[in-house]
Amino acid sequence: MTPDWQTRLREKIRDIPDFPKPGILFKDITPLVRDSATLRLALHHLIHPFVGAPITAVAGMEARGFIFGSLAAWELGVGFIPLRKPGKLPYDVQSVSYALEYGENTLEAHIDACGPGDRVLLVDDLLATGGTAKASCELVERLGAEVHALAFVIELDELGGRTQLAPYPVHSLLHF
Ligand code: AMP
Repeated sequence: MTPDWQTRLREKIRDIPDFPKPGILFKDITPLVRDSATLRLALHHLIHPFVGAPITAVAGMEARGFIFGSLAAWELGVGFIPLRKPGKLPYDVQSVSYALEYGENTLEAHIDACGPGDRVLLVDDLLATGGTAKASCELVERLGAEVHALAFVIELDELGGRTQLAPYPVHSLLHF
């Protein structure tokens, strides 16, 4: 029997224990994106709920959100907004800082990346605690745009990211 699409995607996600720190089981999506069939399959299911939705842009979180986010933007026929780590964007930026388990992180977007009238779909490879995604929503809203929904290839259910993101709609392809 041909494996279903979720099994095919799962088979292309490699678990790397203790990366980048002891105790983290890193979900490596590089085998999935290297294979044109699984890349296309993931993209198809990632954008499926949003085909025909009133989205004006897709925003992707650095760095793996750029891979899926820019492809999703292409397929949905809208433009792409990179949400970047601090100091990377050359023009004036809006920033949002958020707490990590140890320390703090910041995400930035250009001040003219989006604004009133925009409805943005946020895309990343993986939802863990939801800190990155929540900060991304805040960034888009500070620029005056609305968040349409968030889409992830992988969701780590135990970390409760989805609860953090309520009431935004969250779409994930694979639950671990
Ligand atoms: P969080 O802010 O805790 O939801 O973490 C999500 C961000 O960190 C995403 O950009 C992921 O790419 C990355 N990330 C967190 N945990 C993992 C993991 N176990 N494997 C791969 N990437 C992860």
